[in-house]
Amino acid sequence: MAYPAPLEALVEAFQVLPGIGRRTAERLALHILRDSKARALSRAIDVAVRDTKRCSLCQNVCEIEPCAICADSKRDVSRLLVVEEPAHVESVERAGVWQGRYHVLLGSFNPAEGTEARHLAVGGLIDRLRSKTEVEEVVLGMDPDKEGEATLLLVLEAIESAGITVRVSRLSRGLPAGSGIEYLHRGVLEDAIEDRRPVRRRQDGPSFY
Ligand SMILES: [Zn+2]
Repeated sequence: MAYPAPLEALVEAFQVLPGIGRRTAERLALHILRDSKARALSRAIDVAVRDTKRCSLCQNVCEIEPCAICADSKRDVSRLLVVEEPAHVESVERAGVWQGRYHVLLGSFNPAEGTEARHLAVGGLIDRLRSKTEVEEVVLGMDPDKEGEATLLLVLEAIESAGITVRVSRLSRGLPAGSGIEYLHRGVLEDAIEDRRPVRRRQDGPSFY
């Protein structure tokens, strides 16, 4: 082994992160050792892991349970925006274009990359819809890409097979294909939510439009 064991362990630790290969992991690990901010980074990781949890209602990352959004009585409880990642909640909140609550799936349906239905917080969503009768509309705010579409269908099937009758809509057409929700400009995001359209089952087959 070329590196001392503690450095090798750090390289391997970086490699568990998405999109980080061996070469990048080595570069990051060596940079960390050179940089005087390394201890601050290590402390920040420790504190973030120790002091954050998942909100048991919406699954978003929070410090105190339930999260600030779920606990906010001024939010519109009749509308639920379903998103893939906590970063998407952050983007929508920063844009200030949604007054309802959220449900975070914690990923997108992508079996090729190892994310299957059981890894997503779909069951939690169904439980919420079953117990919270005040939810009148579920807005599916998935990314406008292949995985987002697969995730959307998965959620729709789950809602339907649970026999839940709730208004379901999806973001408007015309979003730049392949662009994640977190990269959309405020105006685009606002239009996508404002101009959302109802999702209906096709009469002629097992799909939705
Ligand atoms: Zn919450």
